[in-house]
Amino acid sequence: MSEPFIYDLGSPGRTGVDMPPADVPLTDLPAGFLRQDLPLPEMSELEVVRHYVRLSQLNYAVDKGFYPLGSCTMKYNPKVNERMARLPGLADIHPLQDPATVQGAMQMMYELQQMLAEISGLDAVTLQPAAGAHGELTGVLIMRNAQIARGQGHRNKILVPDSAHGTNPATTTMSGLEVIELPSGPDGNVDVEALRGELDDHVVGLMITNPNTLGLFEQNIVEICEMVHEAGGLVYGDGANLNAIMGIVRPGDLGIDVLHFNLHKTFSTPHGGGGPGSGPVGVVAELAPFLPAPVVGLSEEGDFVWDWPEQSIGRVRAFNGNFGMHVRAYTYIRMHGAEGLRRVSEDAVLNANYIQALLKQRDDYPIPHGDRFCMHELVAQGKIAGAESVHTLDIAKRLIDYGYHPPTVYFPLIVPEALMIEPTETESKDTLDAFVDALTDIAREARSDPELLHSAPQTAPVRRLDEVRAARQPVLARHPEAVSG
Ligand SMILES: *Cc1c(COP(=O)(O)O)cnc(C)c1O
Repeated sequence: MSEPFIYDLGSPGRTGVDMPPADVPLTDLPAGFLRQDLPLPEMSELEVVRHYVRLSQLNYAVDKGFYPLGSCTMKYNPKVNERMARLPGLADIHPLQDPATVQGAMQMMYELQQMLAEISGLDAVTLQPAAGAHGELTGVLIMRNAQIARGQGHRNKILVPDSAHGTNPATTTMSGLEVIELPSGPDGNVDVEALRGELDDHVVGLMITNPNTLGLFEQNIVEICEMVHEAGGLVYGDGANLNAIMGIVRPGDLGIDVLHFNLHKTFSTPHGGGGPGSGPVGVVAELAPFLPAPVVGLSEEGDFVWDWPEQSIGRVRAFNGNFGMHVRAYTYIRMHGAEGLRRVSEDAVLNANYIQALLKQRDDYPIPHGDRFCMHELVAQGKIAGAESVHTLDIAKRLIDYGYHPPTVYFPLIVPEALMIEPTETESKDTLDAFVDALTDIAREARSDPELLHSAPQTAPVRRLDEVRAARQPVLARHPEAVSG
């Protein structure tokens, strides 16, 4: 890596600030405030700007190119969202302000709660959770407390399909409950008979993702929800990606009792390196008393107030959640309107099916459920006939050389060599064509020059990393020995 480390830049005496003359008496800082052992670089403003802009250009971002990272919904983040989030009346307020002074912000939160309730077909929403996984934890704690309130405190199991996102079993375990894994059938749907066999009076509920992570609509969802309810269980919907169903079908109408939304996926707020997440949770009326507190309510006098639901599970987050993300999602929903949101889903599904159809036609990458229409994403396999030494990881790394962020790889776990592709609605046909052409070129390279793929990426700022070691033994300082304990 040739990029200089910031501590090696600048030179003593250089400065990036130009202080006005002091108009108060000068005094020395207490000695303990100044640490001579910290080798802070002395740099001009221009050097600082160049350093960080250069670093940002080494990174990949949705504003730079196509980012078909399945399940992560890397859609374009409209810049109008940013303008709204920076309005002084929204950006410069404090959560401890007297509610009388922030009625507009509270009204926006109240309306966002209502809009999410309407989109999902549920009755009440909390905006507090800070991410999808955090919403899941909130939702499962609500389910568990509701079972206790029903006199069903002995229930201790959550059923989770084997196609689920890893956060589902992790959430269950963190809630002190036991995970029971459900197999998927050959058609990619939950195996209904296996579900029937697990339903007993120890089941708190089922966590289900629809469309599931194979990109398929669970065709038996209504029957599945009825079976769980009959057994006294509740149904949790993993609504991280509503991108296929908004304005078309409402999870609440299908029988879902609790659902989290990822504002940073479906509702276009930036994520990854771009900003904090937000994972609101919606519930049916029976579960509303258990929502985390406070939620924004409307008093009889017409004032927006902080409500504390009677049997609340308590706070799950400081203050009211990631408010700036609420503003961005609110803007996105208002900019689209009901018709527009439906169009988002239709176009997202169309784009994914377009890629699936092209890949099927060219026949380089198997698509295990290619006989069905996919929803907002599709799962192909990096198993190229005639290139047996080439794996999904090689294909993903080679895509970087072609200027694309790779799709999600090796997930869902039930598809060997999975390549999970989610184009989103914001991409043009030209982009989708060029991407599939790149995959076709890579398949040709895989057959003629597999070594090229094994050693990819060739053109990225760093070559292939040992990702496991990077995660387990991160080196976070340039001169670790110089950082005092
Ligand atoms: C992204 C995702 C989650 C988790 O959301 P985070 O905000 O990353 O915690 C859960 N389930 C599914 C299906 C997802 O795609």
